[in-house]
Amino acid sequence: MKSEKLRVKPGSKVSLADWDPSDTHGHAREEAELKLKENLQRIRELQEVLYAQREHALLIVLQAMDAGGKDGTIGKVMSGMNPLACYARAFKAPTQEELAHDFLWRIHRVVPQKGYIGIFNRSHYEDVLVVRVHNLVPEPVWSQRYEQINAFERLLTESGVTILKFYLHISKAEQKKRLEQRFHDKTKLWKVDLADIEERKKWNDYMAAYEDALSKCSTKWAPWRVIPADRKWFRNLAVSQVIVETLEGLKLEYPRPSFNPSQIAVD
Ligand code: AMP
Ligand code: MG
Repeated sequence: MKSEKLRVKPGSKVSLADWDPSDTHGHAREEAELKLKENLQRIRELQEVLYAQREHALLIVLQAMDAGGKDGTIGKVMSGMNPLACYARAFKAPTQEELAHDFLWRIHRVVPQKGYIGIFNRSHYEDVLVVRVHNLVPEPVWSQRYEQINAFERLLTESGVTILKFYLHISKAEQKKRLEQRFHDKTKLWKVDLADIEERKKWNDYMAAYEDALSKCSTKWAPWRVIPADRKWFRNLAVSQVIVETLEGLKLEYPRPSFNPSQIAVD
């Protein structure tokens, strides 16, 4: 897969109608599942070095419409990771305390430290998505946030955090299918949130808000990637592939010891 094709070119204007949610970039399911296994194994190896070296952190941001596959992606992509050095955080509607701070406060405090991989299920982008769609703050407030987000992500990047941002792109028809499935599957019924059905009515407003977030906040230091997500197997392959390539690009190395191992005797 040419993962470069998933990247939103900084400065470009995204029209989501041009990105096919069921695209598989020429992959077949069986071969993709084998490649995914390899990727998970490779992520595990690279993560060990990341943890040992403690020079880089990896922050993975997942955004999607309801039933877009954020939980499923986390479950799959993290399944090969060492729990010692990774964690996932979900961001819900802010608490009173969080609302009394700037919108990045609750985010910044859980950005992974060097050596760790952190995955965000929703993120600071909700503050230009749901907040914009529902007018939770006035337009002059949310419209400043794109630049504030870019500056924040730049600070993180310059401090050793590599940021990967994935928009899991599902079609409106696929969302309907998945929401309906939840009603008929005992193991998924607990996921039903009647509010999701109301949110779905604002699909076009959300798409417009996503297009702006993807266009304004795909930067050189923290580009967005649009992942075709109607097919879960392709989504998992694509996300894992970008993670592998990114970790490989960091040129991770085990740290050199401060002593000469051949001069140490253990009684
Ligand atoms: P879920 O991810 O389905 O458990 O739902 C979490 C809910 O929290 C979603 O409806 C989000 O839109 C909402 N949420 C997350 N962040 C914010 C935010 N900054 N402001 C308002 N709502 C938010
Ligand atoms: Mg929900």
